[in-house]
Amino acid sequence: MPRTYRFLFVSTPVGPLGSGAGGGVELNLVNLARSLLERGAQVRVLAPEGSCSVDLPEGVIEAVAGLPPPYAQSQRRDQPVCFSTPSLVANLWQRAAQLQEQFELIVNWSYDWLSFYLTDFFRTPVAHIVSMGSLSDAVDQALERIARTYPGRLAVHSRAQAQTFAFARAQMAAGRDPFVYLPCGVDLSRYEFVPEGNGSLCWVGRIAPEKGLEDCAALAEKTGRPVLILGHLQDPAYWQQIREQYPRAQLDYRGFLPTSQMQRLLGHCSALIMTPKWVEAFGLVAVEALACGVPVITYRRGGPAEIVRDGETGWVVEPDDVAALATAVERLDQIARSRCRQHAEEHYSLQAMTERFLAWSEQIVQDPIPAAR
Ligand code: UDP
Repeated sequence: MPRTYRFLFVSTPVGPLGSGAGGGVELNLVNLARSLLERGAQVRVLAPEGSCSVDLPEGVIEAVAGLPPPYAQSQRRDQPVCFSTPSLVANLWQRAAQLQEQFELIVNWSYDWLSFYLTDFFRTPVAHIVSMGSLSDAVDQALERIARTYPGRLAVHSRAQAQTFAFARAQMAAGRDPFVYLPCGVDLSRYEFVPEGNGSLCWVGRIAPEKGLEDCAALAEKTGRPVLILGHLQDPAYWQQIREQYPRAQLDYRGFLPTSQMQRLLGHCSALIMTPKWVEAFGLVAVEALACGVPVITYRRGGPAEIVRDGETGWVVEPDDVAALATAVERLDQIARSRCRQHAEEHYSLQAMTERFLAWSEQIVQDPIPAAR
């Protein structure tokens, strides 16, 4: 049993916890915090104003004010680092600096250059959970520096995500991997296994171009199957464009729902469709679907392709190939829903994720590397 640690989590600044703007980071952060608290650890979460979670006791979340940074996904790679002021990211780290002596480890969940850059300036070690693949030259440089100066402080969720970073590929070619791997897990007791699908398809995620919802709309038109859509509406113009482009698709959008309601609707569907246009770092919704017994049909791109066992827990098809998605839909009867649930239980429990996290954090706390100045 690892000794109890005191953890300070710095949340993603892109939106309040509970809004869905932070994608899978929100669920991961809250799940891990809850699981650590249940094991007797101390956890404080610094998060944007308006953050809330029914799963965390009062007083765990501390609200920090300021303006969020732009979404990294909508920026150019060579975009200079820029922050609106008063900057939420800066304020989060200012508060972390004030509190640092009370904690043994600071865990950064944000994907902002400043969050990585500041690693050097903290007396308490800062560990980083990198939630997306390579999107920005400035972030890549900051990560490369951390990998060099503080080995073992960078965690990613999948091999595919790690491979998007040029510096990591170079190091891997030389036999060194700069990353620790932390596949995500969920509290399986919160996902009800549903033995039969109702014929509908489901698509879950932020509605934003990198998520490729248009391909699922094209699939809906091609197959005539209704698609239930759940998730945060990040880009309303993009959604409108899809509606206009695929008028015959039966798209039933229900908004962003709490996990309990989301899993109830998802669980009755015949498949989850994942059509990412970017290298998805993990794809937590794939695990959530499997936990309900729902097979996943995904492109062979990014984290979901590492989660889904082709022909066993769903189908993995060539990226951007809507006809291949349609063929996979026809073959859903070959997938046993009980096997999907079993796969989630074997590999993606919250307990397994917590243990992986604790092993990582223990290594850092026991072997903190002096800051290079
Ligand atoms: N989600 C939710 N309610 C919804 C739709 C989605 O809570 O109605 C959550 C889902 O549980 C997951 C996240 O939104 O945690 C999406 O995460 P994912 O890793 O799939 O993609 P990301 O948005 O991080 O790229």
